[in-house]
Amino acid sequence: MPVNVFFAAGAAHWPDYRDALHAAMAGAGVDAVLSDHADDPALVDYIIFAPGGIISDFTPYTRTKAVLNLWAGVEKIVGNATLTQPLCRMVDPAMTESMVEWVVGHTLRHHLGMDRDIRQPAPHWDQVTPPIARERPVAMLGMGALGQACAQALVALNFPVTGWSRTAKHLPGIPCLHGDDGLETALRQAQIVVTLLPYTPGTKNLLDARRLGWLPQGAVIINPGRGTLIDDDALLAALDEGRVGHATLDVFRVEPLPPEHPFWAHPRVTVTPHIAANTRPLTASRVVAENVRRSEAGEVLQHLVDRNRGY
Ligand code: NAP
Repeated sequence: MPVNVFFAAGAAHWPDYRDALHAAMAGAGVDAVLSDHADDPALVDYIIFAPGGIISDFTPYTRTKAVLNLWAGVEKIVGNATLTQPLCRMVDPAMTESMVEWVVGHTLRHHLGMDRDIRQPAPHWDQVTPPIARERPVAMLGMGALGQACAQALVALNFPVTGWSRTAKHLPGIPCLHGDDGLETALRQAQIVVTLLPYTPGTKNLLDARRLGWLPQGAVIINPGRGTLIDDDALLAALDEGRVGHATLDVFRVEPLPPEHPFWAHPRVTVTPHIAANTRPLTASRVVAENVRRSEAGEVLQHLVDRNRGY
C-alpha cells in the first residue's frame, strides 16, 4: 500500500517541491502518493509542513505518523496543542553549507574591515593592518547542527571560537561553555558574536542590555538565528554608545522588517532578508523521504523535536 504524503507547506512552494519529492521518495524506495491537498485528513500518513502553510488544526489527521517541518526552526508549530504526532525539523547538509558560507563571509567582512576599503572615496591609502584570525576571538551562541558547523569552519581559519549552549559539550579544538556564567565568560572575551539559537522562552531577549554590557567595546554581532534572541532597543542603545561596533542581522521579530524600523537606517547595522540558510527543495526532499522511509521501516525518526525543550 502506498503512503499518503500531504504537502501542507503552502501552495506557492508545491511546484518547487513536487518533482524533487517524487524523485526523493523513489530514491528512498518509498511508494508514496504526494499531493498538495488532503480531501480526507483521516487518510494522511505524513504531513510536510512549513510556517505559513495551510494547517493550524492537526486533530483530524488521526492516521498521521509524523509531521515533517521544512524549516530548521519550529517555533511556529511546536506549541500547537492540536499537534500530537511526532514533529521533525529540517537538518539538511545544503542548509548547513549555506549557513557556514553566510557566517564565515560576514565574519571575514568584519574581521578584515572590508567596509573601510569598499566605502572610502578614492583616492585613499590608509594602511590599517587588521589582526589575523588567531587574534580575533569569536563566541558561537548555540552549538547545534548549524552552530557546530560554523564554529568548525571558523576554527579551520584559526579563529579562537568559544561555544555556548544549554548543555555541556566536549568538542575537539572548541572550548564549550554553558549556563549564565559561561555566557558571561564567552561574551566578555568575544570580538565577534554569532547567535545560532532557536526561539524558545529560554532564549527570548537573551542578549539584553545587561548581557550586551559584557561585550568588549566595539564587538560585532552576527545574528542568523532568530530576531527574538536580541532585545532590539538594547541593541540600538549598545550600537549608539559604541559597545557594539556593528550588527549584521538576518532575522527579525517581524519579517519582512518593517520599512520604519530603525535598523534600516542605522549606519552600523547590516540587514539581510532571512537568506542565511534557506531550505532547498532538492536536498530537503531527500531528508523528508529518508524520514518517511525510516518511519515505514520501524526505525527511529531523524531530527525529532523535543516539545518540552521547544527545539
Ligand atoms: P539545533 O541543532 O537544535 O541547535 C540549537 C542550539 O541552541 C543547541 O546547541 C542548543 O543547546 C542551544 N540552545 C537552545 N536553547 C538554549 C538555551 N536556552 N540556552 C543556551 N543554548 C540553547 O538547531 P540548529 O539546526 O543549529 O539551528 C539553530 C537555529 O538557527 C534554528 O532554530 C533557527 O532559528 C535558525 N536558522 C536560521 C536560518 C536562517 O536562514 N537565518 C536557517 C536555519 C536555521 P544544546 O546543544 O545544549 O541542546
